[in-house]
Amino acid sequence: MHLSIVVPCMNEQDVIPALVERLAAAIEPWEKDAEIILVDDGSSDGTWEAIQDACLHCANLVGVRLSANRGHQIALTAGLEAAKGERIMMLDADLQDPPELLSDMMLMMDRGYDVVYGRRIERQGETIFKRATAYLFYRVLNTMSDVPIPRDTGDFRLVSRKTLDAVLAMPERSRFIRGMFAWAGFRQIGIEYTRAPRTIGETKYPFRAMMRFAIDAMTSFSTKPLKLATRLSFASLGITALMAIYVAYSLILYQTAPGWASVVLAISFFSGVQLLTLGIMGEYIGRLYVEAKNRPLYFVSEELRDATPVTMRKSA
Ligand code: UDP
Ligand code: MG
Repeated sequence: MHLSIVVPCMNEQDVIPALVERLAAAIEPWEKDAEIILVDDGSSDGTWEAIQDACLHCANLVGVRLSANRGHQIALTAGLEAAKGERIMMLDADLQDPPELLSDMMLMMDRGYDVVYGRRIERQGETIFKRATAYLFYRVLNTMSDVPIPRDTGDFRLVSRKTLDAVLAMPERSRFIRGMFAWAGFRQIGIEYTRAPRTIGETKYPFRAMMRFAIDAMTSFSTKPLKLATRLSFASLGITALMAIYVAYSLILYQTAPGWASVVLAISFFSGVQLLTLGIMGEYIGRLYVEAKNRPLYFVSEELRDATPVTMRKSA
């Protein structure tokens, strides 16, 4: 198998026909030696039926159905583990990333690169809020992270078999896949593209999901937040010292202790610092707990290959 394309899908029933059509056109030059893997991440709409239906019409299609919703990054992992290709492309179901970039990415790989990722130079039709948070996310992540993670780059990329095997050998439960590819190394290059608006369906990343994703990203790729706790404690000690001077000064000058306002301020400031520090610790301890349980990331409940159903397969 030369080429695999992996697409995680959650509640994307309306997108699947257009998606399959665009992907089938994009893989035409490699058609005889290519597979398109659609992973149904525990959808509650007719996504699986749409995938089954598409499988009847497109011989290159492989359908993988997870036993429950496991989230974007795990669904992507499931697809990557099912992929058999020498080169593997991954993209979102909603066609925000143009599949037509495949031929350019293949050319780059012919030149010897192991990872060709898409870098968004523009995001069309997304809210100012999403653009601003995404902008901040990639920049904060990079100052925190111990490995440089390419900015404004999602999971849209073409990777070589050896890079994919390296990433799949990483056992962690909380998966931040674009970071894992960055960490893996090998020869990487980005190509720029404009990210189209989502035309069908709605985003599966509401604010809460985005926050979780950001916290996962930071804590999986850096221990700097833990060090932040130490820095914060120094800062608060410094502020306490300044306050002590002020208290002594006002005691001598006005013969009165400062009023409740400064006390309340101090209490709330320091309890805030303590809670933040505890929260950061908690994030890491929670992750240790999840890793220690060492559960399989997902279960496949159904698989469609050559339109023949295979039942119950467990992840490695
Ligand atoms: N997705 C998934 N499981 C989830 C959430 C999202 O498989 O729990 C898929 C979704 O179907 C899409 C991709 O992940 O193919 C990215 O989601 P989306 O386009 O909604 O994110 P956005 O582009 O708005 O950041
Ligand atoms: Mg999208």
